[in-house]
Amino acid sequence: MANKVSNKVVVIGTGAVGVSYAYAALNQGTVDELVLIDINQKRVEAEAYDLSHGVFNGPTSTVVKAGTYADCADADIVTICAGVPQKPGETRLQLIDNNLNVFSKIVGEVVKTGFKGVFLLAANPVDVLSYATYKFSGFPRERVIGSGTVLDTARLCDELSKEFNVAPQSINAFMVGEHGDSILAAWSSATVAGQSVKAYFDAQPNGKERMEQIRYDVMRAAYKIIEGKGATYYGIGMGLARITRAILRNERAILPVSALVEGEYGEHDVFIGTPAVIGSSGIVRIIEQPLDAEEKQKFADSANILRGYQEKVHEYLK
Ligand code: NAD
Repeated sequence: MANKVSNKVVVIGTGAVGVSYAYAALNQGTVDELVLIDINQKRVEAEAYDLSHGVFNGPTSTVVKAGTYADCADADIVTICAGVPQKPGETRLQLIDNNLNVFSKIVGEVVKTGFKGVFLLAANPVDVLSYATYKFSGFPRERVIGSGTVLDTARLCDELSKEFNVAPQSINAFMVGEHGDSILAAWSSATVAGQSVKAYFDAQPNGKERMEQIRYDVMRAAYKIIEGKGATYYGIGMGLARITRAILRNERAILPVSALVEGEYGEHDVFIGTPAVIGSSGIVRIIEQPLDAEEKQKFADSANILRGYQEKVHEYLK
């Protein structure tokens, strides 16, 4: 990677999420070469052709093409968005059996090329599939990043931005835990310009209920969007593009992702949503959120649920 004058990102799975990510990355102008791979060859060629016509009016002269696994050999990031999406009412964890199969094949193909970059994962259940990618690839933990709670945190900050009438980027708050039903808001460490968000709600007669309502709305957002239009993709596309920018520019930005925790939060051997410092090597370090006793318990419960599903990865590998 050190001698390369340009960077390269390969996107595997160019359905709604993969293409939204590609489009967002193209508009942010951080990627020099963007390669798309999908089992639907006709579709992926059409997507690459269409996206390449956006370059002229975009910020940089990104090369966009449909490619093959051989393109992964010198890629900086391989982002996997392939997989079966949720149907209305279905939980993310219910997708595991189908998507484990898809992932074992894809990760195997990528590793065979000698890929030395960072895996970025979006397919659901993203925490468990990040663990699967870590196990299937044999990569060190810093080079496997799940999108984790990047989207949920964006949703939380969007909600809070209305409450405080400030830009979402000016809010320092994180959703942590599973990207799924056991997710929690790290209220006790959330701040707006140094002011405690929890203290603000605690000062209101129905503050506790309002905080729970916000967490619930964030957790249910995907279900609501899927009911209305079948799938969610723009929000996650922007989230993946943000993580991509942090890696390619070695930003060392603190972003919410799914990372393997080994001792942080008192947990071991589980991919789970947490803020982490992101740079060119992937996860530079995990930033453990200060949690109160109730949040600690919820985080531990979420980790236990995920570890239970990770057993399916162990069974698959037998
Ligand atoms: P989609 O059905 O629109 O696209 C999936 C794509 O994967 C299709 O183009 C399909 O041809 C391709 N594909 C399937 N098997 C493949 C293989 N073996 N190799 C290459 N390509 C393959 O689905 P979508 O709406 O884009 O969702 C994709 C995944 O992203 C789902 O698992 C969904 O749950 C997840 N998702 C995650 C988040 C998040 O926050 N992490 C948000 C939204 C969706």
